[in-house]
Amino acid sequence: MSFSDIALACVNQLQPYVPGKPIEELERQYGIKNIVKLASNENPLGPSQSVLAAIAEATKDLTRYPDGNGFILKSALAEKYQLGLSQITLGNGSNDVLEIIARTFVSAADEVLYSQHAFAVYPIVTQAIGAKGVIAPARDYGHDLQAMSTLINERTKLIFIANPNNPTGTCLADDELEAFVAQVPPSTLVVVDEAYVEYGDGTADTISWLAKYSNLIITRTFSKAYGLAGLRVGFALSHPEIANLLNRVRQPFNVNSLALVAATVALADDAYIASTKQLNDQGMAQLIAGFEAMALSYIPSKGNFITVDVERNGLDIYESLLQQGVIVRPVTNYGLPQHLRVSIGLQAENQRFLEVLSGLVGRPL
Ligand SMILES: *Cc1c(COP(=O)(O)O)cnc(C)c1O
Repeated sequence: MSFSDIALACVNQLQPYVPGKPIEELERQYGIKNIVKLASNENPLGPSQSVLAAIAEATKDLTRYPDGNGFILKSALAEKYQLGLSQITLGNGSNDVLEIIARTFVSAADEVLYSQHAFAVYPIVTQAIGAKGVIAPARDYGHDLQAMSTLINERTKLIFIANPNNPTGTCLADDELEAFVAQVPPSTLVVVDEAYVEYGDGTADTISWLAKYSNLIITRTFSKAYGLAGLRVGFALSHPEIANLLNRVRQPFNVNSLALVAATVALADDAYIASTKQLNDQGMAQLIAGFEAMALSYIPSKGNFITVDVERNGLDIYESLLQQGVIVRPVTNYGLPQHLRVSIGLQAENQRFLEVLSGLVGRPL
């Protein structure tokens, strides 16, 4: 007997999520040091001193369960976004929230709609339920809302839209996205996944749409601009009835006590977000200048990463970069076999990546 024979058929068909390679793993494999990791869209600044101090203080209470309602963090989010506490669902990272949404609303008889080249977690949470994932073709590597509209039918329970999208960095204009949300039937939920919203120009006003469209769910995270990927905190903002349902499915202590404290402190630190954005803008310009010097095309990005066409087998270049201590992300599994996704790092990290890439593709910087 194989355990696959007794596992759910939908689980047997799942493609496992491939994370960025951890630095320690590359150290073990190749015995190299001074590794640059630009593979998981983490904040290169690291957490602020105030966050680290708050975590240190909170370790004194580790024997207690966390507040299962996350009251203090939810209050801070409610204040910041001018919403009710009853509109917030906390997650162990926003991936947890995405899964809770799917498990709350989607059955095996339903369809879930998302785009080609969209975030890998959407097919995973869909297929784990045995539901049908419907993939809309992309346009210019981004969401084609027209194409998505035509694929909505009475079985479409949920639509996932990453804005900006990972791994392509494409971003929909506010008015275009709102026009789409407005025409989705009220019994179909639209999740707008805003994991990278803090890197934008601040004009996105999706939260104000919640009052107009009760089927809209916005997800955000502390993993990217807030620099807390290792702690795992994300959240959904929605109509209170939706939040109420999500909170029934949510594991009671899904966000740990250190994460709750760190996220609350991080949320108040506007200066950290401003420096993060400034560093990201500079790093983005640096990488783009490098790609242009090497005459490599790239997908314009509104995130903290950029996806470049290396005009060769992406997996080969990825492997060669690894051997020289630079970890990026191949995106072959996203249907982009000649591209690599690189996260924006510190100036020296970006430079190191560009120099190694330049050597590999044989084009001067
Ligand atoms: C990184 C990312 C997330 C966030 O994941 P967490 O579970 O919060 O760490 C969500 N959506 C997209 C599109 C992402 O790229």
